[in-house]
Amino acid sequence: MGKKELELYIHIPFCVKKCNYCDFLSFPADESTQEDYVIALKKEIAFYGRQYPGRVLTTVYIGGGTPSWLTERYMAEILSEVFRSFTVAPEAEISIECNPGTITGHKFQVYRDSGINRLSIGLQSADNEELKVIGRIHTWEQFLKTYEMARDHGFSNINIDLMYSLPGQTAETWYASLQKVLRLRPEHISAYSLIIEKGTPFYDLYKFDAVKQQAGLPTDALPTEEEVYRMTKMTEQLLKEAGYEHYEISNFALPGFACRHNIGYWKRIDYLGVGLGSASLLDNIRYTNTNELYTYLKEAEHLRAGLWQQEQADGTTAELPAVNLHAAVEPVGRKAQMEETMFLGMRMTEGVYRTEFERNFGIPVEAVYGTVLQHLQEEKLLLKREGRIFLTEMGQDVSNYVLAQFLLD
Ligand code: SF4
Repeated sequence: MGKKELELYIHIPFCVKKCNYCDFLSFPADESTQEDYVIALKKEIAFYGRQYPGRVLTTVYIGGGTPSWLTERYMAEILSEVFRSFTVAPEAEISIECNPGTITGHKFQVYRDSGINRLSIGLQSADNEELKVIGRIHTWEQFLKTYEMARDHGFSNINIDLMYSLPGQTAETWYASLQKVLRLRPEHISAYSLIIEKGTPFYDLYKFDAVKQQAGLPTDALPTEEEVYRMTKMTEQLLKEAGYEHYEISNFALPGFACRHNIGYWKRIDYLGVGLGSASLLDNIRYTNTNELYTYLKEAEHLRAGLWQQEQADGTTAELPAVNLHAAVEPVGRKAQMEETMFLGMRMTEGVYRTEFERNFGIPVEAVYGTVLQHLQEEKLLLKREGRIFLTEMGQDVSNYVLAQFLLD
């Protein structure tokens, strides 16, 4: 039997400066903290390589934070630790997130030499005014330079991250951003609408506006609900006309360039997250690393496997395998596995394959979700065709509502 596949996520929590909308685990750090972190990270990677010798890495994703802010030597060291510790599939997708303003040609060269074959560049908007409002550290022109440099260094699989529903944005400025980006013809585009998250500067500024937006009322700075809907539809149409496949609610790719790492999440392939605050899903147990930097650095010095005491509903205690970096360990029961299969799988345009559901759970999907499926079909939000269950365009428009239907009581 071949080795079981595994995806690896590596978290780099450092950013030059915090963007106004960001609630990711990221913060500025000096050079010596970065160095200590890389040392800890390499230890963690090597440790898991020993723990999971029977696994083969099919994707590696280096995210953050701003991984491209790290000195290139650190990135080369991290990746050589990955190759030393794990079996990496020869055709593995190896991605790194980059921010314009933190990149040099030499960094791109080192990335290529270290095995990275996919870039995800955070642009968000092609409008310099909007970039300033959201607190990005770069301009459109700096992004262009980074993009051209990436192409010059031979990267042929590039994602551009975009964001709409920004304060002050209109359908016209969003259209202009999309046109500028489409002229570059990246292989992949992610387009998310802004969510005003608690604890961010934007929350203090726009929390009431966000409530008005959700309620369909007139807004002050944020686009109205109707404008956001127009922007969503415009995105879908322009990208489709340009030859991009809309393969997930917020993700578009030229044929053959869908992000394999993210598809793995939506299909519930096992993933191992290393680094501060990273999450893993291994054999249906969900692990979360500590999100306290000094605890992480200290615990990584003497990594050890142990047992996590988990109190059960019936008052007994179960013991789960864990590591001293973990801050939470949660078994994913059969019911939750089914829910996740549906509400993650249905995010993808291809939807969920009925045979796969049955193979995983030994029971037809209709036996669990018969009533829900029928009801959603009657509302024209979902279709069943060629052995797949997937959202209609109308279903995608109200995906939050549809996906919530798959939660079991
Ligand atoms: S660059 Fe990304 S991770 Fe860093 S603060 Fe901005 S949005 Fe957050």
